[in-house]
Amino acid sequence: MKKKNHSGIFVLSLTIIAAIVVIVTYASDFMPEELEEYTEFSPKDYESLEMENSKIYQGELILVNQYYACKMMEMDKMVAIYDLKNDDYQVKDTKIMANQSTIEALNNMLSGFKQKTGICDVNITSAFRDEELQQELFDEKVEQTDEKEAVRWVARPGYSEHHSGYALDFGIYSNGVSSTFTGSWKYRWICEHAHEYGFILRYDAAKENLTGIAGESWHFRYIGKPHAFFMKQQNLCLEEYIELLKSYPYQRKHLKIEDFDGKKYEVYYVKADSDITMVPVPKHGKYTVSGNNADGFIVTAELL
Ligand SMILES: [Zn+2]
Repeated sequence: MKKKNHSGIFVLSLTIIAAIVVIVTYASDFMPEELEEYTEFSPKDYESLEMENSKIYQGELILVNQYYACKMMEMDKMVAIYDLKNDDYQVKDTKIMANQSTIEALNNMLSGFKQKTGICDVNITSAFRDEELQQELFDEKVEQTDEKEAVRWVARPGYSEHHSGYALDFGIYSNGVSSTFTGSWKYRWICEHAHEYGFILRYDAAKENLTGIAGESWHFRYIGKPHAFFMKQQNLCLEEYIELLKSYPYQRKHLKIEDFDGKKYEVYYVKADSDITMVPVPKHGKYTVSGNNADGFIVTAELL
């Protein structure tokens, strides 16, 4: 009898230990650790900004994937890369357009790369795409493989991040030869420093179950500082980051990010009301408001 009791306790202990291991493993996968919070704010330091709900679908932090279509293409912010670029990289076609803020960050990043390595043969092969172009690329891929395989590589028309103007595909064009950007050799510098310029490598092969897209070493997405730095530090893909930000609503605690250059920011989420949302923003200091392309707004403010 005594023996039986002991074995029961032993089995129970093992079960508890196994459960703890499972919980800890799960939690460390989905909950980044050591996140700083900003709680010292006072409502008197904020004022309300009236935002129409169509703005949910615009801004640097919009999440576009197989579930969230790009609903509002911001054509007024698209500029031909060729017209704004510096001499530190190339663009495949003079007509390729991207969001102006993305091109400015791209200029800075590839100037940094040129200064460091002397290389200026990165070639921008694709940026903003309208639905028609995406349809052509999608149909091409379906012809090459089949529909199930095609969606791993080319998003369905309407659901491509390229519709946002914040996505860029890199290639290499050297001595008249085009090649794939794999991020290896000296080009690794770009992958290692992209976050300092506000870019992320959007499709990590290890996160395909979350992004829906197979690993792409050439697809960069501009999301701005300090978000790119935070995502890199915490190893989050955009799907995970946008979800995490929902746990930082204005009323409760804000996420505090100290960027690689020492600048401090508070970031918080404001759920959209119907039609018009009053978004609290700081009365003093710089801030930006972006939609998340799903259900609300994200405010990023520099802390003084
Ligand atoms: Zn791409």
